[in-house]
Amino acid sequence: MATLLDGKKLSQKICAALKSKIAKIERLKDKKPGLAVVLVGDHSASQIYVAKKEKTAREFGFYSEVHRLPAASEEKEILNLIKYLNESPKIHGILVQLPLPAHIQTQAILNAVSPLKDVDGFHPLNLGRLFIGDPLFIPCTPQGVMELLKEYRIEISGKSAVVIGRSLIVGKPLAHLLLGQNATVTICHSKTKNLEEVCQTADILISAMGKPHFIKNSFVKEGAVVVDVGINRFHHKIVGDVDFENVQKKASFITPVPGGVGPMTIALLLQNTFKSFERSAS
Ligand code: NDP
Repeated sequence: MATLLDGKKLSQKICAALKSKIAKIERLKDKKPGLAVVLVGDHSASQIYVAKKEKTAREFGFYSEVHRLPAASEEKEILNLIKYLNESPKIHGILVQLPLPAHIQTQAILNAVSPLKDVDGFHPLNLGRLFIGDPLFIPCTPQGVMELLKEYRIEISGKSAVVIGRSLIVGKPLAHLLLGQNATVTICHSKTKNLEEVCQTADILISAMGKPHFIKNSFVKEGAVVVDVGINRFHHKIVGDVDFENVQKKASFITPVPGGVGPMTIALLLQNTFKSFERSAS
């Protein structure tokens, strides 16, 4: 039976360490790191994610603002809000919750966030810096996956890693981070032929496709490390991309959903916000 890669536990550890650092700084300087979240529209999953981010930020000593804008908001209104947040001394991290309504050009909004407050790491400058090996902010989900692998001392160098998904938010940066640690990386997507066979070659198999229970036992090499980034609503439950019940019998390590990569994403968001705060103070 696989060992669980317990993201809930590790995220609590990261957040608790941040909380004690913040408490110390607050006593000395009466300042705390601030996170602003921008939510446009009433996408139900986004509302849940934003509420969770706000609650966790407050619980661990951060100042938190959530700006909720109606779905019909014009691009200019969102850009004005971002300009205000870029200039606000109380705010060190800005997160624009995705997806944005269809009439908004997502990239134009992401480009407007100051790269110095872009704690999600989605600004082209930050993605570019990541790709040249000089990162300022690394996208939180891929960074969270790497922290989990590190915590459980999973060897990456020389291993074969297969990443399913090529989004700018998860798949591409994650593949790059694995490459940076000397894995031999294969990126798969919806046009990949023989996905099952490609997955069978993986020492480390990471799924970020968003398809409930797609990754069956037969996709997994005996003893592989399986990381499930997927968050899917399925029969009124949240499940991952991996058929956890069966795959856990074959894998050496596996992330649960929920309780795996999800909480790590929030912990890294707070860690990035804290780093931005420290940088602004130095
Ligand atoms: P996207 O929809 O942007 O990307 C999905 C990727 O999966 C695409 O590259 C797509 O290929 C690929 N894909 C889809 N179907 C198949 C298939 N049948 N075979 C092979 N590849 C396939 O999603 P995101 O990257 O934003 O998110 C992926 C998942 O991770 C979602 O479930 C999301 O909810 C979850 N997520 C979880 C987070 C967390 O904190 N745990 C944070 C962010 C996301 P193509 O490019 O060809 O379309």
